[in-house]
Amino acid sequence: MRRQVCLILLFFHWVLPVHAADWKVVQIAGRDYLSMRNIAQFYNLEDVRETDKEVMAKSGVRSLRAIKGSAEFFINNLKFILSYPAEQHDGDLCVSRMDLVKLIEPVMRPSRIKNAPPVETVVLDAGHGGHDNGAAGAYGPEKAFALDVVMRAKALLQGAGLKVVLTRDSDYFVPLDERVRIANRQKNAIFISMHFNHGGEGTGVEAYTLAPRGVPSMMADGPRVSDLVECAGNVRDAENMALATASHAALVVKTRMYDRGLKRARFVVIRDIKIPGVLLEGGFQSSRFDSKMIATPLYRQTLAQAILAAVENYRKAVGSQPANRTLPQRNPDPEPAGRPSKPAPIDPPGSS
Ligand SMILES: [Zn+2]
Repeated sequence: MRRQVCLILLFFHWVLPVHAADWKVVQIAGRDYLSMRNIAQFYNLEDVRETDKEVMAKSGVRSLRAIKGSAEFFINNLKFILSYPAEQHDGDLCVSRMDLVKLIEPVMRPSRIKNAPPVETVVLDAGHGGHDNGAAGAYGPEKAFALDVVMRAKALLQGAGLKVVLTRDSDYFVPLDERVRIANRQKNAIFISMHFNHGGEGTGVEAYTLAPRGVPSMMADGPRVSDLVECAGNVRDAENMALATASHAALVVKTRMYDRGLKRARFVVIRDIKIPGVLLEGGFQSSRFDSKMIATPLYRQTLAQAILAAVENYRKAVGSQPANRTLPQRNPDPEPAGRPSKPAPIDPPGSS
């Protein structure tokens, strides 16, 4: 069955202010949390269903789903990884204020993002290159597949009237800080980095966006003092999340691969750029199933189409009308640091 993520409607966000919610902030382990019922009320999700494992709040095609004790969180059936797990408090399942402000809000109401620049240019970043092969796979190195996807995406984006800048257009090494410099020279631009994964039994697609200040990277073992330092890219927290959501939704819907979720990290290329950015992982080179897919031109064309859809949906999402209601104000102190779906029909590797 086709995955029920609704790509277009993910940004079906023009939420009417029927009644302003009274925010009831509770403290769990020194951190601000809000109940799912409170959040559902704010976004006018009238149908709230609770089981002993989760809370699902719905209205039409819009939905939020939190799972007790888990960082997995679903918005319109697309998986996000919360910075802090959903926790019980006085019988209510609660989500951290950080996740409400930095994740749920820009996804539910991207049109409220202030001063999001228009998108005229897309910087496409093919991971690795030259002596840096990236992840090895049975059918070729990550660097070659990433570049191929980027060249395909370039053609599609230019066909849609966008200017495209590449951090590399052939098989040569480009240091990470040079990629950042290329991105930061562009105005009215967004940055999309293309990679493939490696490791363990992993399978499926995921996207990374910059962790907000104070939030641990999901790639680190735990909180670090550096989590409290504001990175260049943090000025774009809201746009980053909206772009990453558009990208991750497009990736999941178009490829029909397993949804590993939208995650937070501080990779150099998304940390130091001043334009909205996202890093995509288009499958696992180490997986037998994924690596076969990655090796097919059809799958790589699908990834390129996902990039085009991501750009188009992001532009629509941040271009809409603003709303008025406000999120709960933060406490004075900074936040403490605190199975594959059915594959699309595809040719075997090397058949075209
Ligand atoms: Zn990579």
